[in-house]
Amino acid sequence: MAKKAVALLSGGLDSALACALTLRLGFDVVGVNLATGFCVGEGRCDTALALAQRLGIPLRLLDVGEEFLAVVRDPKFGYGSGMNPCLDCRILMVRTAGRVMEEEGADFVVTGEVLGQRPMSQHRRALDLVARESGVGDRLVRPLSGRLLPATSPEREGWVRREDWLDIQGRSRKRQLALARDWGLTEFVQPSGGCCLLLTRTYAVRLRDAFAVRGRDNLTREEFALLRFGRHFRVSPTVKVIVGRNERENAVLAGFAPGRWVLSFPRVPGPVALVEGEPTDAELGLAARLAARYSDARPDEPVAVRASRGDEVRDLSLVPLAADDPRIPLWKLGE
Ligand code: SF4
Repeated sequence: MAKKAVALLSGGLDSALACALTLRLGFDVVGVNLATGFCVGEGRCDTALALAQRLGIPLRLLDVGEEFLAVVRDPKFGYGSGMNPCLDCRILMVRTAGRVMEEEGADFVVTGEVLGQRPMSQHRRALDLVARESGVGDRLVRPLSGRLLPATSPEREGWVRREDWLDIQGRSRKRQLALARDWGLTEFVQPSGGCCLLLTRTYAVRLRDAFAVRGRDNLTREEFALLRFGRHFRVSPTVKVIVGRNERENAVLAGFAPGRWVLSFPRVPGPVALVEGEPTDAELGLAARLAARYSDARPDEPVAVRASRGDEVRDLSLVPLAADDPRIPLWKLGE
């Protein structure tokens, strides 16, 4: 009976190639795609599905959102350049794949990690650490760099020869792109596309602010999600204003209304804005003037703004803040 691998399939190039190589070596493969809730762009999971279809393997879609939030709140091995806890994230992913390996009665786990490709999580010591901390140990295989790494269980058991693995290392993707062409893989997410919200400066700034004001453990999954949308302004230590940038964001922000003040413009086209915290009357007025700066209201005349929270409704009439008000860039979080 063919030995079986569980392969993490993110939708990216490297994991697709690692999976394809494992299949070419005659192993059965089950793909696993993990949703963290922090993917940039849409369709990575669709891409993983398309890849699995192309490769002819089953794909298990798992939500690790709650466990991932615990890692983002308090990573044992710290953050990278943004708020990306890459080492802890890799450990979580491999540990989850290890769990699937046990469930599936599989023999080893495959990832698309490449030696030296990422500074935080793919240098030699980091790869060893992930294998150890995940509990998967020498049943964790990185086929793209396997020839450069210590022998793992499939090699020791004699299921593969050392030279069956590849010896790719470093940041260049030339060899991977050539292999993808040779093997007819076209569905992957482009390597230049970025992958993770936690790597972006804007999200990192907002998350640090939210941790400081709300406390790491108090921030809900919904609040993590809201940090993605709109322009965010910290107008006082406890009050934040979020202003939609387009119709789509206005609709999304309206969905976050429960428990927050919502600002809208009954007489002129304007954004939906949310006010978080317990604003004083003066702070609510300031938030309304800030939101009005992004409406079609005339800059020097009062405009009607409706502020509502649940059953409470206040109709205000205020002059928008000037577009060049020097406080605006100081309040702004990210971008
Ligand atoms: S960039 Fe994001 S998804 Fe990728 S390893 Fe780091 S934390 Fe995980």
